[in-house]
Amino acid sequence: MPDPHTLFLRLEGPLQAWGDTNKFVIRRTMEAPTKSGVLGLIACAMGVTRGEVRECYAELNSLCMGVRIDRPGILWWDYHTVGARTGVLKAEGGVKRNAKTKEPETLITRREYLADASFLVALRGDKALIDETVNAMHAPKWSLFLGRKSCPPSVPPLVLRSLGEGRFEPHVEHGVSLVEALKRIPWQPRFKNLQSDKPPKELACILEWRPTEAEPEAPDAAEVWYDVPVAYTGVAPVHQPRFVTRCQLTLGKDVASGDPLFTSVPRPSRPRADYTSTEWKKRRGERLRNDHGLCVFCKQPATTVQHISYRHAGGNEDTDKELASLCRLCHDTCTMLEYGLGMTLDRIDPTDPKWRDRIIEKRTEIREFRSVEGRRRTLARAPGTDKPPLQRLDDEED
Ligand SMILES: [Zn+2]
Repeated sequence: MPDPHTLFLRLEGPLQAWGDTNKFVIRRTMEAPTKSGVLGLIACAMGVTRGEVRECYAELNSLCMGVRIDRPGILWWDYHTVGARTGVLKAEGGVKRNAKTKEPETLITRREYLADASFLVALRGDKALIDETVNAMHAPKWSLFLGRKSCPPSVPPLVLRSLGEGRFEPHVEHGVSLVEALKRIPWQPRFKNLQSDKPPKELACILEWRPTEAEPEAPDAAEVWYDVPVAYTGVAPVHQPRFVTRCQLTLGKDVASGDPLFTSVPRPSRPRADYTSTEWKKRRGERLRNDHGLCVFCKQPATTVQHISYRHAGGNEDTDKELASLCRLCHDTCTMLEYGLGMTLDRIDPTDPKWRDRIIEKRTEIREFRSVEGRRRTLARAPGTDKPPLQRLDDEED
């Protein structure tokens, strides 16, 4: 590989499960992310369908993977039922049935999890594939999970680096070895209860081993992990072996300790509106007067002045173009739509016809939800009490 690139993933969440190859009643987890688990995560981000997965894995398998165990986590287990009502197939064929009732039997299985673990995964490969993976991880198509669907990540997995001024870019290293790459990302203490984690002395790493001219044979200490995904045949995933070796990195010498308050989760920057400033109050009053105190969408009495754009928020708004009077329901509607769409600086203009149908649809949804909530609260009154039903306070707008 002429100029290998390396990207990094931070795999962290309340629970993770990196299954080993056995498919028995007790399903264990490996101590660190498996290659099939990590490639599955990337395939999810890429939105690969079951039909395309064989080809996709063939390409992704060229990535060489290293894992740094930043927090090993603790083993935890839960039970999981299989075959409720449908029954579990026996090895000799047929369905397992309860001896007395003859009903198909539900199997109770045990699943192991790693609770509270944190891993840094480095993936090294050819530039085009690394770029493609970075793009997919930056805007995943499907929701991501840490080995098992019930294990969502608690941070966006793609590791970013700060460019200053609140801007970030994906952290990609060029031309270095896996172990060198794993040294370049600081160990990140957590900040909780006003103090940071006690840093470990050493961080264990599990590195994928590939033959080279200098080292054509795997070292004696190499382990074999059966976790290279090949194909999903519809019955069970097929895995091939790979070699891994282990090493320890010393914190403070090989790896720097990060700032406990550092966050690489970029926050959309928008000027904060200062709703106490005299200038804002003037503009708000002007907008309400121009709209005759009515909601620009539904013509009910307006209660708020909404920002259509936050570009000049803080008292420099263009009263005509950047503000609109709204009633509470229309305000809540627009805000919900804006959050759903991840809009930051430029928001919904309620007078723009292109938003009309979506606002009407969302408004109806909110009103229905609120009236159901109101009814639920009325009905929740304990039987036998003679207190009057709770007042419905939800529909004041309409
Ligand atoms: Zn309205």
